[in-house]
Amino acid sequence: MAQLDSKIPPGPLADKWRRHKADMKLVNPANKRKYELIVVGAGLAGASAAATLAELGYQVKNFVFHDSPRRAHSIAAQGGINAAKNYQNDGDSVHRLFYDTIKGGDYRSREANVHRLAEVSVNIIDQCAAQGVPFAREYGGLLANRSFGGAQVSRTFYARGQTGQQLLLGAYSALSRMVGAGGVQLFTQSEMLDLVVVGGQARGIIVRDLVTGGISRHAADAVILATGGYGNVFNLSTYARGSNATAIWRAYKRGACLANPCYTQIHPTCIPVTGDYQSKLTLMSESLRNDGRIWVPKKKEDRLKSPAEVPEADRDYYLERMYPSFGNLAPRDIASRAAKRVCDEGRGAGESGLGVYLDFGDAIKRLGEAGVRERYGNLFDIYHEITNESAYQTPMRIYPAVHYTMGGLWVDYNLMSNLPGLFVLGEANFSDHGANRLGASALMQGLADGYFVIPYTIGDYLATQKPGSRPSTDAPEFKQAEENVRGLVARLLAIKGREPVSHFHKRLGKIMWELCGMARTKAGLEKALKEIPALRGEFWQNVNVPGAGGTLNQSLESAGRVADFLELGELLCLDALEREESCGGHFREEHQYPDGECKRDDEKFAHVAAWEFQGEGKKPLRNTEPLNYEAVKMSVRNYK
Ligand SMILES: Cc1cc2nc3c(=O)[nH]c(=O)nc-3n(C[C@H](O)[C@H](O)[C@H](O)COP(=O)(O)OP(=O)(O)OC[C@H]3O[C@@H](n4cnc5c(N)ncnc54)[C@H](O)[C@@H]3O)c2cc1C
Repeated sequence: MAQLDSKIPPGPLADKWRRHKADMKLVNPANKRKYELIVVGAGLAGASAAATLAELGYQVKNFVFHDSPRRAHSIAAQGGINAAKNYQNDGDSVHRLFYDTIKGGDYRSREANVHRLAEVSVNIIDQCAAQGVPFAREYGGLLANRSFGGAQVSRTFYARGQTGQQLLLGAYSALSRMVGAGGVQLFTQSEMLDLVVVGGQARGIIVRDLVTGGISRHAADAVILATGGYGNVFNLSTYARGSNATAIWRAYKRGACLANPCYTQIHPTCIPVTGDYQSKLTLMSESLRNDGRIWVPKKKEDRLKSPAEVPEADRDYYLERMYPSFGNLAPRDIASRAAKRVCDEGRGAGESGLGVYLDFGDAIKRLGEAGVRERYGNLFDIYHEITNESAYQTPMRIYPAVHYTMGGLWVDYNLMSNLPGLFVLGEANFSDHGANRLGASALMQGLADGYFVIPYTIGDYLATQKPGSRPSTDAPEFKQAEENVRGLVARLLAIKGREPVSHFHKRLGKIMWELCGMARTKAGLEKALKEIPALRGEFWQNVNVPGAGGTLNQSLESAGRVADFLELGELLCLDALEREESCGGHFREEHQYPDGECKRDDEKFAHVAAWEFQGEGKKPLRNTEPLNYEAVKMSVRNYK
């Protein structure tokens, strides 16, 4: 059974991080040069970590499967990044950001982690502004803010609808500086396919060069995974097509616990699915809900009319009606379920009936078309590119879609997994968002982890490891892990079945969305737990992976990733089945209040579920870490 010690420092909540930093062990500058660190991933979390650790003097090897760190999925982030700067004087504070995040996560995250996140949020903005990130500014020169869901203050910093791209350019510049200075060795188009554990500690990785097919071993004093989220287990999602779970899944199979895999975020404002051959879905940023108003016709018979034909009196602005305090800025889980409810009632817009309107008519009257264009122009362009409709003239049609995974590898307060020496950052860990992430908090967490947390906590760990004590890559554990990878590649190529990889991914996605999506039931999850292993069996009999292993082979890459999704999907459903409550993004139909809101069971489920691999074909072990609330009283979330 895994040891899950959260290592939350003692003392008052607001002092914990400061005191912990003061108490942690240090590595002297001359010794830092003797440690080699592996960072897998160079999205916001990985690039910020690799750059900062190299600036500190560590030798860093940074691996990405992309052809450049600039292609990490972080680049897609549109809306913004939260920070408790209170530039608006609208009552924000570190405490309020902490409180909103805990409440937004439906009381399923750790108080101490979330408080630290709120504290360092202010440093992130300073650091990024100093790097030259072109945040929007007010007329007086201060950085501008807008609102995101689940908050009544404006604390979201943004760079039009391209915040992730601009932040990533900042982190990439910092990383490039260190590549140039020799502190970071960058390996692009290099996919980590196994974690190497020696004597119970993470000591290295096995990597496949995606261009030559070459397989190599890399040893280190510590391994950091910053490999993003696993939402593509649903096939259709707002993630970049390449985002995958392979790094965390293979680490799980080497002993790292996977926490709360069922906590999936379904974002309310995405362009609806249009057909079976679609490969991804597109987000329409939550920032649009600052000015756009969401509605459906009051009467079912109006749902196929053009929106202009539905008079004002016949429109149901259901979020404003149901949640008057937060209105269109209700948190994502709540806004998504409300959209599902009105569509299930038969009032959904469009042919499929799976759509609601996001209407800028009022905003255009108030701000003028130019004003709306200035705030959201690129998002309107994206919408036009995909639908061939102008949202300046007619409301956008949107529907919820998979967008983020709150679950991930379990980490303690120091961001170390239960495997000593394995650290996990950004979306790949489970740390801060509980059962529902608030908008604009993922970028904040990724950069907090990379710029401000890991540089301290990794030193505390390394100080306990003798410099230069990392094993040689000739150690038997490296040999075994490499054979494991070679065996998997050979096995996939040898099947020579009839169906392409995408066939299985689509079918898995359908099972996941229908049985473990926005609403989950015991019967549905039990059905999924039968269908997924059967589909996995079919995959291993009948998948067709053309080409060879010793060359660029994208079918082979995606086959490995889908093989992992076919296992992870099962764990996700098992986690959803065993969590007999509703909380945040995890909505079990059996557990709801009469008005359809989530009914938590704090007595039985106020804990993290951290799953431990027990071997192929064996049921994984469900470990728990209790969640203790001292500063915040657990209550029923109310956004009314
Ligand atoms: C469309 C969209 C818009 C969003 N907008 C916002 C927003 O406005 N605000 C906000 O806070 N959040 C937003 N998010 C969420 C946020 O963008 C992500 O959670 C965040 O960027 C994840 O960053 P990361 O560094 O953890 O991972 P990623 O950016 O996904 O980076 C993962 C890295 O790991 C590498 N990698 C992965 N697996 C391997 C492997 N096996 N071997 C080698 N390398 C590997 C990849 O190459 C990549 O470099 C949005 C998400 C989407 C989908």
